[in-house]
Amino acid sequence: MSDTRFRGRLFGPGLPGSGAPATGRWSDGGSLQVAEEGAAGRLLQADHPAVDAAGFNASSLRISWQGEDGAYAFIIEAESERTICCAAAPAAANRHLAEAAGVTTRLERRFRFGAVLLGLILILPLFGIGLFLGNSDRVADWVVKRISTEHEAQLGELILAQTRLQMKVVDRGPAVEAISAIGSRLTTGSVHRYRWFVADRPDINAFAAPGGVVVVYSGLIRTAGSAEELAGVLTHEIAHAELRHTLRGVIKSLGLHALAALVIGDVSGSVFAETATRLTELRFSRDAEREADAEGLRRLVAAHIDPAGMIGFYEKLAAEQRLSPPAILSTHPATGERLESLRQEVSLQKGKWQPLPVDIQSIKNSFK
Ligand SMILES: [Zn+2]
Repeated sequence: MSDTRFRGRLFGPGLPGSGAPATGRWSDGGSLQVAEEGAAGRLLQADHPAVDAAGFNASSLRISWQGEDGAYAFIIEAESERTICCAAAPAAANRHLAEAAGVTTRLERRFRFGAVLLGLILILPLFGIGLFLGNSDRVADWVVKRISTEHEAQLGELILAQTRLQMKVVDRGPAVEAISAIGSRLTTGSVHRYRWFVADRPDINAFAAPGGVVVVYSGLIRTAGSAEELAGVLTHEIAHAELRHTLRGVIKSLGLHALAALVIGDVSGSVFAETATRLTELRFSRDAEREADAEGLRRLVAAHIDPAGMIGFYEKLAAEQRLSPPAILSTHPATGERLESLRQEVSLQKGKWQPLPVDIQSIKNSFK
């Protein structure tokens, strides 16, 4: 007899219409013992119970049997109790349970999809008005303003999970420590809880997902000539995230699906499955690039990091571009004009720079 007990409600002859609280446990042979709670509670035994999904949206598990005095059902509603019940079930009862649990999961999934659809229908008139009034940019701005920091963080989590499926992402080791040491100085006072990752990829690329998830490709670290150059790229990516450019890009790219799901607060739907792929394909506008350069530079100066590194890295990218365009330039369009105005801005900075305590060469060696 398994000692694991699970709680539910017992229905049957002599019991209230709303059922009575009871505890169940499986015997090794596949029969179920149900003890009605309370001092006068009865103890029932079901030798060959039937198991199926029941309740609104089939979200409960129903174990029913024919007793001597009538039909009984033990209904388990709470998901945690259902899990305990399924885990403790002996092999004889397990197949039916697995079938019933499968029905429950399928229907719950369908219900979630229905909820997303409902959100879509509710929000459709507003979206229509937006489209009517102007263009999708205006609609994207409208949505971005209404997304909470928590939802932004949830979206970041999803993008991270997707990225992990696509590439090897590490969250510890010398490279991550260095990125984290530099990045923390650039994100002081942010509303987001930043987390730093390194992807094992040869391309020169990096991105900051909404909500504080920053991924730097090892190919980019290999290209950086100093910790200050690394800081120059990081600050630009952080600026895009802090200015919500990335969030806006994701919203525009996902369109209506994201709108519905985010407004109803469900970002777990499959509509986000492709977000990570799209994130690395997002192309920022020239205005967004200029804004990110300015905000990035402001953050560098505030952190007392020499902004000459930013110029140094951009020059390297420009040189690389002549051979083959680095991936990062396809999402962040670089122009000669941008580099020139940044040079002027940097030359005006008269801060006192503190060297970054990061040995870039030893980080590069750690990749081998
Ligand atoms: Zn950019």
